[in-house]
Amino acid sequence: METKAIRGFNDVLPDEIGKWQFVEKTAREVFEGFGFSEIRIPILEKTELFTRGIGEATDIVEKEMYTFTDRSGNSLTLRPEATASMARAYLEHQMYAFDPVAKLYCMGPMFRYERPQKGRYRQFNQIDAEVFGVGNPMVDAEVIIMLIHFLEGVGMGNLELQLNSLGCRECRPRYREELKKFFAGKSAQLCEDCQRRLQTNPLRIFDCKVETCKEAIADAPRVIDFICPECQKHFDQVKEYLAMAGLTYVLNPRMVRGLDYYTRTAFEVVSYSLGAQNAVTGGGRYDNLFQEIGGLDIPGIGFAIGVERLISLLPKEKEFIQVPHLFVAALGEEGYREAYKLVNQLHLQGIRAELDYEGKSLKSQMRRADKLKVRYTLILGENELRQGRVVLRNMEDKSQEEVPIDGLSLLLRSKLLGH
Ligand code: ATP
Ligand code: MG
Repeated sequence: METKAIRGFNDVLPDEIGKWQFVEKTAREVFEGFGFSEIRIPILEKTELFTRGIGEATDIVEKEMYTFTDRSGNSLTLRPEATASMARAYLEHQMYAFDPVAKLYCMGPMFRYERPQKGRYRQFNQIDAEVFGVGNPMVDAEVIIMLIHFLEGVGMGNLELQLNSLGCRECRPRYREELKKFFAGKSAQLCEDCQRRLQTNPLRIFDCKVETCKEAIADAPRVIDFICPECQKHFDQVKEYLAMAGLTYVLNPRMVRGLDYYTRTAFEVVSYSLGAQNAVTGGGRYDNLFQEIGGLDIPGIGFAIGVERLISLLPKEKEFIQVPHLFVAALGEEGYREAYKLVNQLHLQGIRAELDYEGKSLKSQMRRADKLKVRYTLILGENELRQGRVVLRNMEDKSQEEVPIDGLSLLLRSKLLGH
């Protein structure tokens, strides 16, 4: 029986990989330009890191984690997100001892047990960037500027930055009470999950996708009206710094990120370039996370971009597929020997040359060259070779010229690589 991949776990095939590499390369360039360093963290962590770091009353911890017991009886979990692990690494290696400010990014697969559907998988990829150790609103703006710069860099258009403030430990409890009061009379209208959320984490009702819940929250009190003067000042400064950088934003008082540890600034970037509204990424400040995972009182802010969703929104006209530069067609034993030598030389110079391995006829080699969409084919015939020459065929306009083998790689470099 043929074995297939697990549902919700995808292969990324060679004809799609160009987009992935482009997105990852752009992220590295942009983030490193902003002074961020890459960090690589394990895919498995102790379960308690996530239950404490993400919060018991969240969708992720309640029902989406891949948790299992290993052979020694430890409860381990495949990481559902990267922030908690990055914070753990920062504490574990005392990165703050060198400099309290750490600007880190990481990319890789995350795992959530969700119902697989378009844009929602069980293994999916995120690009994460985090700043640990700074509470100053200047950094909130910097992180957002970097995110927008990255999204524009990969070709996303019509971006809308949505902002909100979620308050802090001081002011949020009052808001939660207010929300509970508001929903108390409406609880019949809420779905089963939200009735439970009303007790455990009423802010999460804002994230619910059930129609009746959406209606119920339409005129719920807004967190922004309850934040304390400190949080208000912080939020005003974030907005001022964004304006100084020329960024426009819209306030979205209903954007309430579900994780317990979020404080103050919350943001999402939406792209309208494909007509429908598409949330590609979100992030925010989490000044309580470090204490939740048993660490020092260290502020943090960051974002996570869903790579599959981002890639599905990339402009279609961009060409990502990497075709070989050149096909080398050979005739006769001597032709094949020369072709082998030449192809190896060209590879060392970064020219993607492809050849036939099976002694096929010239006609069938040319058919393959056509299929591979190379721009040029080199034909090594025994007669021409004896005179120290080969035939170079331009596959677009079908013109052919005889060129000397001497100096061939120089000629090919300038034709194919432009240098
Ligand atoms: P959603 O409301 O869509 O479930 P989320 O709030 O769970 O999103 P985050 O935890 O903020 O998402 O993750 C950041 C990004 O990761 C999302 O904006 C999305 O692009 C992507 N993402 C989250 N879960 C999945 C998934 N199961 N499959 C693919 N991408 C995902
Ligand atoms: Mg989710």
